[in-house]
Amino acid sequence: RAKRQGRSRAEVFDDVLRAQLAERAELEAAIAAGLTNGEMELHYQPVVDVADDRVSGYEALIRWQRPGHGWVAPDDFIPVAEASSLICDLDRWVLHEATRQLAEWRRVHPAAPDTPEPTMAVNISGRHLADRSVVQDVADVLAASGLPPALLVLEVTETVLVDAPAALDNLAALRALGTSVAIDDFGTGYTSIGQLRHMPVDTLKIDRSFIGSAEPGHEELVALIIRAAHTFGLTVVAEGVEEPAQLVRLLADGCDHAQGYLLHRPLTAADAGALLARVRSTTG
Ligand code: C2E
Ligand code: MG
Ligand code: MG
Ligand code: MG
Repeated sequence: RAKRQGRSRAEVFDDVLRAQLAERAELEAAIAAGLTNGEMELHYQPVVDVADDRVSGYEALIRWQRPGHGWVAPDDFIPVAEASSLICDLDRWVLHEATRQLAEWRRVHPAAPDTPEPTMAVNISGRHLADRSVVQDVADVLAASGLPPALLVLEVTETVLVDAPAALDNLAALRALGTSVAIDDFGTGYTSIGQLRHMPVDTLKIDRSFIGSAEPGHEELVALIIRAAHTFGLTVVAEGVEEPAQLVRLLADGCDHAQGYLLHRPLTAADAGALLARVRSTTG
């Protein structure tokens, strides 16, 4: 009967699955090749002080120029890399390049005495954080770059801290190296404000869905998160600030830092370096 109707449902399903697996394998191979062939690039989005708009640091964001495909957004390939140990190679490359870049900027544009040094934030995937290699990887790039560990900020998501006990041990070891740790996209997972008290982190990044929300009460919620975070000794960064009114409100709420298109888009290394040079020459 199946013969008469053509291919059975199960056979068609098999074909679809096979095609998806093949596509994924192809993408994985392309990412791996991209890493060795120098197709990856970092852009740097400045993080500013809410009180005076000064650049307090940068977040390294990966960009991939895939031959024949143009620029591929991280959301379109990071999840695929995260399905295998490929993400650890990718994280390692980002860690290496971002710390090298900040060390270079510090050499070329030295800070005047008593001015704060800009930090560099790097996104660490949950899979890598749960892997013991992460501690050695971070120690290696700190040694290679000579960067003071306190200038390196590791961004991790809240789900990682709740779901993986190994990740918590590694986080403690990373902080023992002297690096700083930030919870990224706070509010998108299931962490309650009360759990912040027990989290081994230094900084809280409030997800942009809260900052840009039009829902009634969201502004009060953001103010509450900022107050709670400060009570627990955490520094707060607001993500995705796009409108002046949001910045005004964040200033009133006592938010420490902000990041978003209103302030700066992610910049090429050249543009981010030029921005630092400008900041240094006017305050130095
Ligand atoms: P994220 O860590 O939360 O990074 C912030 C994302 O928000 C970036 O997107 C940034 O360009 C975008 N953004 C910043 N300001 C605004 C704004 O005002 N409005 C809007 N609409 N968006 C804003 P991007 O670069 O596409 O990165 C997306 C995500 O991909 C990141 O989210 C991070 O989770 C992941 N990712 C990026 N680079 C890396 C990396 O090197 N390693 C790992 N493991 N993940 C990365
Ligand atoms: Mg991030
Ligand atoms: Mg984020
Ligand atoms: Mg986010």
